Amino acid sequence: MSNFDKQQVFRQIPPINILLDLPEVKKLIETYGREFIVDTIRLVVDNFRKSPKPMCREEIIDYIEKELDIYINEFNNIGLKRVINATGVILHTNLGRAPMPKEAINLINEVSSGYSNLEFDLESGGRGSRHSHIEHILKRITGAESAVIVNNNAAAVFLCLNTLANNREVIISRGQQVEIGGSFRIPDIIARSSCKMVEVGTTNKTRLSDYSNAITEETSILLKVHTSNYKITGFTEEVPLQDLVSLGKQKNLVIMEDLGSGSLYDLSLIGLPYEPTVQDSIKNGADIVTFSGDKLLGGSQAGIIVGKKDLIDKIKKNPLMRMLRCDKLTIAALSATLELYMDLDKAVQNIPTLKMMALSEKELLSKANKLKELISEKLGNKCAIEVIDELDEVGGGSLPGVTLNGKAVALTAENMNVNVLQEKLRKSHIPIICRINKDRISLNVRTIHDEEFEIIVNTLWGIIGE
Ligand SMILES: *Cc1c(COP(=O)(O)O)cnc(C)c1O
Repeated sequence: MSNFDKQQVFRQIPPINILLDLPEVKKLIETYGREFIVDTIRLVVDNFRKSPKPMCREEIIDYIEKELDIYINEFNNIGLKRVINATGVILHTNLGRAPMPKEAINLINEVSSGYSNLEFDLESGGRGSRHSHIEHILKRITGAESAVIVNNNAAAVFLCLNTLANNREVIISRGQQVEIGGSFRIPDIIARSSCKMVEVGTTNKTRLSDYSNAITEETSILLKVHTSNYKITGFTEEVPLQDLVSLGKQKNLVIMEDLGSGSLYDLSLIGLPYEPTVQDSIKNGADIVTFSGDKLLGGSQAGIIVGKKDLIDKIKKNPLMRMLRCDKLTIAALSATLELYMDLDKAVQNIPTLKMMALSEKELLSKANKLKELISEKLGNKCAIEVIDELDEVGGGSLPGVTLNGKAVALTAENMNVNVLQEKLRKSHIPIICRINKDRISLNVRTIHDEEFEIIVNTLWGIIGE
């Protein structure tokens, strides 16, 4: 465009007070406040001036309104917000892992809207410990002598190693050099916790003699790590925990197990492959066991340490504890979730992750049919819709290779490409996150709450209804 043409176009840009008076813009001001909208309009107009296109006044107004919408949407999608998980992946790491039981939410509410006995002993009226609220219940459920929690399992592993093997050797099998997403690598954690890693065995086979031959005066810990997110199959051998425990007793070493997911519930009871439980590790004699609060356990993000009292007492006294300790919200959420484990039937009914894992094919089919009907009722002529078989996952680096038979509502819109529809669902007011299966939107019902059906129907209506 020539400079002359540009000047002509610039003259068509309405002054800001006119733009602020547009009905659509007025609505935005009501929601977001005048200052933010003025700033955003300025930004849009500046951008337009940098690369103007030949437009008349009406076209420019249209253009500014559209751009304003895009900016506001981007702004809306930045903050933390609720989304609907229609992927069928239960512990979706990117979507916040475990949804919490309502008992946990209620206690968070109660404890955080007012004061609490976080560090106050109601018996004596004196100072109490924040660790006490969780300790008794973890002891009860796991059978361990003592327990303490920190912010996540990575912190738990780090703190245990740093406390119990500072400047000393930790022996670990080469088959258990785990990397968890987001840069948690066992060798790095061992190094950062000021311990010296001694690797033994090979990737596929490690024997008890490999451990015993590597023990020196400097050895403090035999570490077993659950390979939670991968499986080594074929010609393999791992040393069972009990054998490590006997060796540890002989040589006076700490046997520590990082269980990763750390189920408190025997998953074979709901038809899934057996996953080592924390109770089993304690029964088999582990001195220290660490696991996550928001994986298979289904509570809040936390790292749980259970085991021998003398060791846990040392861990509690580590100065790093102050940096890694949990806040009251986590303590509330986790203790309410753990209470549900006091009765295992109650746990499966009330802890969302377990409940979603336990859903039967029949229940899933009835959920899928219900969603399908609701969508058809409102949008019948706008889309093609069918209930299909889908494969769901536990996710969160738990139970690798295990798929769950799921059900999904598969959907295509009359007038919209499937990728565009997926994007629009993702960018809607309450985002709906879903996969595409064979050119159709797949809404896997295992991870969708029945109360979310209505939101899905209304969102679809907003996108393809009118
Ligand atoms: C997930 C996992 C961790 C890390 O736990 P976070 O709670 O995510 O910090 C550590 N070790 C193993 C084996 C895991 O599976």
